[in-house]
Amino acid sequence: MIVVLLGPPGCGKGTQGERLAAALGVPKISTGDVIRAAMKAGTPLGLKAKSYYDRGDLVPDDLIMEIIKGALAAPEQGKGAILDGVVRTVPQAEGLAGVLASLGRKLDLVLLFEIADEELVGRLSARTVCEACQSPFMGRQPGQLHADCAKEPKGHLVRRKDDEPEAIRNRLKVYQAQTAPVVAWYKANNGPLTAIDALGTVDGVTARVRAAAGLS
Ligand code: AMP
Repeated sequence: MIVVLLGPPGCGKGTQGERLAAALGVPKISTGDVIRAAMKAGTPLGLKAKSYYDRGDLVPDDLIMEIIKGALAAPEQGKGAILDGVVRTVPQAEGLAGVLASLGRKLDLVLLFEIADEELVGRLSARTVCEACQSPFMGRQPGQLHADCAKEPKGHLVRRKDDEPEAIRNRLKVYQAQTAPVVAWYKANNGPLTAIDALGTVDGVTARVRAAAGLS
């Protein structure tokens, strides 16, 4: 099953994507995670992406499509993939459709996480993430060791550069300007779009996501 997770920053799509990927037994591909790893390693992708990322702007479509093409062509994606944070622009939606067609695959589901902006600002301002495994935490202070981290060495909690107040405001603006039109594009192109109410407990949202994916 190939599933696109669509929704504003802080809507919980990363957390829900992890759970859905585990339930379906498929990998989760997060372009944000790929970009953060590339920046940390100082690769050419990381160097090109950094200034966009730090401001909370979108990284250019051609870089994103390179990531997606490579990731979807990997053999372990045979059973499918959860795409977290892709697609974010109409050209990416068109590009993904082309990549899937060339692989003889199709998009099974687009989950649109809906939630009010005020809730998102609160969540992102209170968020820290593990620098090693990227797991998000609410209300935990930067610097703490992530004792349950699956990576070795275990990571510490950090604030994401793009969770600074100015970058948060910009990311919400960017979402409205560049990503919201993707919803209209899927509607116009018979995309398999299902809206999910993203407010509530993590488990409550998971139940809605599972139902949308046809899981009990
Ligand atoms: P995320 O971890 O999904 O919140 O993404 C963090 C940042 O990575 C975004 O604000 C963008 O700068 C960049 N990014 C991730 N995915 C994409 C994408 N599909 N298109 C453009 N930029 C992206």
